[in-house]
Amino acid sequence: MNNFARALVVALFVLHLSGCIGPPIELTPQTEERLRVQAPIRFLLTFDDGPSASSFWNPSADVLDALDRNPVQPGIKAVFFVQTRAPRAGGSEIGRSLMRREHANGHLLGFHTATYWHTNHRFLDPDELEQSLANGANDIAVITGASPNLVRPPFWSFDKRTFAAYQRHGMHVLLTDLSANDGKVWGITVSPRRRMNLTRQLSEVRERIADGQLPTVDGVIPVVVTFHDLNRYTARHAREYLQILLDSASETGLRTDAKPFYDDSRALERAALARTVRDTSQPVHLPGLWDWLWDSDSH
Ligand SMILES: [Zn+2]
Repeated sequence: MNNFARALVVALFVLHLSGCIGPPIELTPQTEERLRVQAPIRFLLTFDDGPSASSFWNPSADVLDALDRNPVQPGIKAVFFVQTRAPRAGGSEIGRSLMRREHANGHLLGFHTATYWHTNHRFLDPDELEQSLANGANDIAVITGASPNLVRPPFWSFDKRTFAAYQRHGMHVLLTDLSANDGKVWGITVSPRRRMNLTRQLSEVRERIADGQLPTVDGVIPVVVTFHDLNRYTARHAREYLQILLDSASETGLRTDAKPFYDDSRALERAALARTVRDTSQPVHLPGLWDWLWDSDSH
């Protein structure tokens, strides 16, 4: 690759990392008209990679506090896609106690990893993947009394083989509509342009809602949002993020339900399951960076 090509790739990469490749899609009168027949939206919050094993100012505990008590809506329930055997996450005593707290508070535990690292499931051989899914399902069942029925593949990455393995374990793949781009994989822990980023992404989701592409569940359209509870920036700004989501909805012309977030575990589960990937031929939409990374893969 010559220098110019390399510079171009880096520039594109940075653009995608910032999560903002332009202003929000403009709301046309036609889209506004089509939105009128659609149900209001409700944000379905999900958190990946946790829970934190930190004994000092634990970010996952902060996120739980914020969901419980905040000026927007008290007692919000979320889905936590946990790493059950990562020593800096759920593979620790503190991590396990937080998973117990998540379950006791009415949040849902979904599967993310049961390996030491945040390993891409597609890089595990069939035996390793099988073992990892069995371990993860068991680790979660020890806490909740049931195997998880939701999985979020690390790096959003799955193929026919890993998808079939999830199915054998009764795990349904939940991707996302909005991403705060706050994952630590790339060493990015602050999101200075988060408001613009989320508004831009939500304007794209709005187009799909106007098109009737998103299902209505219990009278609302669930919009899946992804954060990372290991991220201290996210934890510190969790309450602000809730307000940013509401602001983004009104800025993009989307009507939120009287309850803009889920506060009932069963309704949360129904909504999450309704948004899972049915089969590997279904086209998937991912916000920002990840779409770009995995676009060329055959899912
Ligand atoms: Zn992850």
